[in-house]
Amino acid sequence: MHTEHHIRNVQRLVNDWKRQGHSVGFVPTMGNLHAGHLALVKRAAQLADKVVVSIFVNPIQFAPSEDFDSYPRTQEQDAMALAEAGVDLLFAPSVSEMYPAGVEQQTRVCVGHIGDILEGASRPGFFTGVATVVNKLFHIVPADLAVFGAKDYQQLQVIRRMVDDLSMNIDIIDAPIVRETDGLAMSSRNGYLGQAERQAAPQLYRLLCEARERILAGDTDFRAIENAMTDKLNDCGYRTDYVSIRRTVSLEPAQAGDTSLVVLVAAWLGNTRLIDNIAVEIQ
Ligand code: AMP
Repeated sequence: MHTEHHIRNVQRLVNDWKRQGHSVGFVPTMGNLHAGHLALVKRAAQLADKVVVSIFVNPIQFAPSEDFDSYPRTQEQDAMALAEAGVDLLFAPSVSEMYPAGVEQQTRVCVGHIGDILEGASRPGFFTGVATVVNKLFHIVPADLAVFGAKDYQQLQVIRRMVDDLSMNIDIIDAPIVRETDGLAMSSRNGYLGQAERQAAPQLYRLLCEARERILAGDTDFRAIENAMTDKLNDCGYRTDYVSIRRTVSLEPAQAGDTSLVVLVAAWLGNTRLIDNIAVEIQ
């Protein structure tokens, strides 16, 4: 595996591959890799000749109060895992390589309404930060396809929207959520959880499954389902940020009669904010 820290070298290498007729798959990450990330790498390798992974903890998607400084950085271990997974190129830029004029001066990509709701409402500016870095990464790595996890469901839809709205020439592929055996969605932030919090954490997925069962049983009182799940999460020791039943893709609020839904949740356990979701397809 080749590791590169400089934008120009990555552009040159990937463009060479494309001229030689290779297809290129790309997996953007913030590192501290786990089996969820490696599943995306595997998917990219199934779909493309060459696989590029980026590791960049993107400062502009973190609010000043958030965990940019403490976000886990494990680059040596990550590089070993990626080499073992058969990745061709790891791009690991510094902040100054990505934002040479400084983060304040950086040209930004501002997504529409879909970036202002749910995660965007709780974390103002978050999706502008995500869209800006992903847009820039797509220019650095001119891939045929990029793979994103359904774990960050709204992020996936925001990126699809950006790609459509800006007529970007790249296919966005989604990959399912990878979970621990007790149901907790894998996340780099799970490492923040204390022992008691880690034990309570799987209730999030258990309650998502319960909400899904209620909807599949024909309950269309979505607000009541959201409220019940919020109460149960809070009883388990969570501080719930939101539970929301939405239409897939558009993320508009669900209405009775909708058949393709997603239940989205964000909740705090101590100082750790967890997000998760579950799709509900009504036959
Ligand atoms: P991150 O490093 O958290 O920015 O995530 C990088 C990519 O990995 C994103 O597309 C995430 O949605 C995806 N990802 C993170 N955790 C999981 C998981 N448990 N299952 C599937 N994909 C994931």
